Amino acid sequence: MKQVKIKELIKECERMAQNNFEIVEEIALKNQKKVLDAFRKNRISSIHFNSSNGYGYDDLGRDTLCRLYADVFGAESSIVSPLIVSGTHALSLALFGVLRPNDTMLSITGKPYDTLDEVINGNGIGSLKDYNIAYKEVSLLDNGSFDWETIQKELDNKPKLVFIQRSKGYDWRDALSVYDIGKIAVKIKEIYPECIIMIDNCYGEFVEEVEPTDLGADIIAGSLIKNPGGGIAPTGGYIAGKECYIKQISYRLTAPGIGMEVGSYSYGHRLYYQGLFLAPSTVKNAIKGNILGSYIFNKLGFDTQPKAATIPKDIILGIKFHTAKELVSFCQNVQKASPVDGYVTPEPWEMPGYVHKVIMAAGTFVQGASLELTADGAVRQPYVAYLQGGLTYEHYKIALEELLADLI
Ligand SMILES: *Cc1c(COP(=O)(O)O)cnc(C)c1O
Repeated sequence: MKQVKIKELIKECERMAQNNFEIVEEIALKNQKKVLDAFRKNRISSIHFNSSNGYGYDDLGRDTLCRLYADVFGAESSIVSPLIVSGTHALSLALFGVLRPNDTMLSITGKPYDTLDEVINGNGIGSLKDYNIAYKEVSLLDNGSFDWETIQKELDNKPKLVFIQRSKGYDWRDALSVYDIGKIAVKIKEIYPECIIMIDNCYGEFVEEVEPTDLGADIIAGSLIKNPGGGIAPTGGYIAGKECYIKQISYRLTAPGIGMEVGSYSYGHRLYYQGLFLAPSTVKNAIKGNILGSYIFNKLGFDTQPKAATIPKDIILGIKFHTAKELVSFCQNVQKASPVDGYVTPEPWEMPGYVHKVIMAAGTFVQGASLELTADGAVRQPYVAYLQGGLTYEHYKIALEELLADLI
């Protein structure tokens, strides 16, 4: 397609997306205010950016960052730490922190994210299963809503913990709205008040104006190189929720009886504060890019998840291509449009835990940080690429322009 035509197409789609842009901007404004208010309430000052070393006793930067996150997420308490290496680590810590032998974990959004497979079901590697913690799951209904009838039956068996994945991950479904998560949490607690409700919050933070902990979830966990790190947190994860559970989880992170009293960080926590402050706006940029992308790809005859005209509930845009070749060159072109390693051509590759070859585009400042513009997909039918992130809307738009030139 001619350059002029592409520019016209993007302009037209941008006009169509205007309503949704405004809705997303309104959410970002509310989230920015919420974050700013938490900063003011906690009297954040440059002293909080100082480094610590050794045991890190009384690290004011660490302790205050935890309180700040708890306030932003409407939680009693939180752990925010560069010592949590990833989202999977945060989720694993939370599960091991509160579950005990003979307990049951019940997922009500079907199979959890791939990296949790081994955490739950691994053999002889210290998985939940090795500790005799049972796992059950109830899939979402075909229309993407909770299967309340089956969930109700499972609650009779008194699972210690109910697990919900907010984002679609690598599924072809809508991400869940926090309001729907809140409603199911209330219904579950009515039947079985002792049940712990835990949310995999990855890719969901700041997409809506509330978080699951605002609406009754007991524990949320996620990665700091996704949404809440604002694109500049260098590593880490967070867990927020009820004080009693966060305490147990902190004993798992360090040692029983020690918890969050220790843990130093000689770089200081400034980037975590600054990242959290930027996060509502960065997430908005990524979502606006996805909205524009969905209008464009739908117009060109490619199915997307979510479809154009719907307000995204996470920061992932699934795009269904017709052929493996289209999928592969799409990801290669995302790499080409990256500020870092833009000269590198990614190839489909065998990855641990995947049956088919996977292609990944991640030309990012922070390794693997997917709040930055990134794409990946398994090379098999249906040929779906997952496009996510975008630190700036302008970068996303330039990338789309270049992708289209090659695609059509
Ligand atoms: C990214 C992600 C994870 C795992 O996070 P990592 O940082 O990659 O370990 C878990 N669940 C969901 C829904 C995710 O998007």
